[in-house]
Amino acid sequence: MDSSQSSSALSSSTARPAVAFLGLGAIGTPMAEHVAKTTDLVVWNRTKAKADAFAAATGARVAWTPCDAACEADIIITCLPSSVEVEQIVIQTDGILEGLRPNAVLVDCTSGHPAVSQRIAHMVRDKGGFFMDAPVSGGVSGAQAATLTVMCGGDAAVLERVRPVLQTFGAKIVLCGGVGCGDALKAVNNALLALHIWSTGEGLVMLKKMGVDPAVALDVINASSGRSNASMNLFPERVLTRAFPNTFRLALLDKDVRIAADIAARTETPAALITLAGELFARAHEHLGENVDHVAAVKLLEKLAGDVVIEPGAGETLMLDAHT
Ligand code: NDP
Repeated sequence: MDSSQSSSALSSSTARPAVAFLGLGAIGTPMAEHVAKTTDLVVWNRTKAKADAFAAATGARVAWTPCDAACEADIIITCLPSSVEVEQIVIQTDGILEGLRPNAVLVDCTSGHPAVSQRIAHMVRDKGGFFMDAPVSGGVSGAQAATLTVMCGGDAAVLERVRPVLQTFGAKIVLCGGVGCGDALKAVNNALLALHIWSTGEGLVMLKKMGVDPAVALDVINASSGRSNASMNLFPERVLTRAFPNTFRLALLDKDVRIAADIAARTETPAALITLAGELFARAHEHLGENVDHVAAVKLLEKLAGDVVIEPGAGETLMLDAHT
């Protein structure tokens, strides 16, 4: 991209940049709430009642269609379940491409697929705009606290144009490479998350069968070298309590691990564990359905282990066969 082109578009914008936010879901809503504080914001959501409620609370305007939202913005942010839905609202009749302003930037905060993002970037470029994949990490609580990590794929000059808006919800904003690299890094990060959840669950189940209280096991692991975000935060808060609050759907983590496995296949990278994580989380998703939290995947593991529940309390110490 010609950086003078982007800076001229920036200088022609008003003090409050004209921004559109499409996708007011679990994480999109708190992100958009921060964006609303410093921009002239228009929102669109498939279920319009959510956009109306958001507008009433924040003063943002509501667009009837993705095209209407794009018409009013120099920076368009999308945050949908997957690249499938993003591409749909880009190309559909009354979609983003129809309303795209010259030099506008489409920033996709969806955890997307690099190949689809690259295809969308091509279409956006053909219409005179710019595209950046910018998936986030940090969860709903990170979005509320404006401490998200934002993994960007695209052009450095485009990132500088949109950085002030990303900074409203992001504490760490990193250019990871060209278009698709943010998506790729996010997919690998979430594959690691899935592996940590599943392997921590496996460990706690076998320890419980041995007679070790899962609360004791986590206390020790979290002061030792096997600890992770799963052991330090997810298991104490969501599994031991049996609360499983639904902040990030298992269906979405399944999608992310599939993307990572697909990247491994396309790059001809041997990735036995990530491929296996993809199979395990697909099975958990199928078993547990659409509307459970990602950490609930351990419920499948508990069932496979003979209905051992990872909750505080130790059983009898199991005496192992000395001959094995
Ligand atoms: P949700 O399922 O809570 O929300 C999805 C949003 O997409 C809703 O606004 C929904 O609209 C909209 N949507 C769904 N299908 C369509 C469609 N066919 N056309 C148009 N809009 C549609 O997802 P999240 O907010 O949790 O996640 C959004 C993205 O962020 C995902 O890619 C996810 O992987 C990622 N992410 C989520 C995190 C989290 O903690 N939740 C953490 C990090 C990343 P409607 O209101 O009508 O249902």
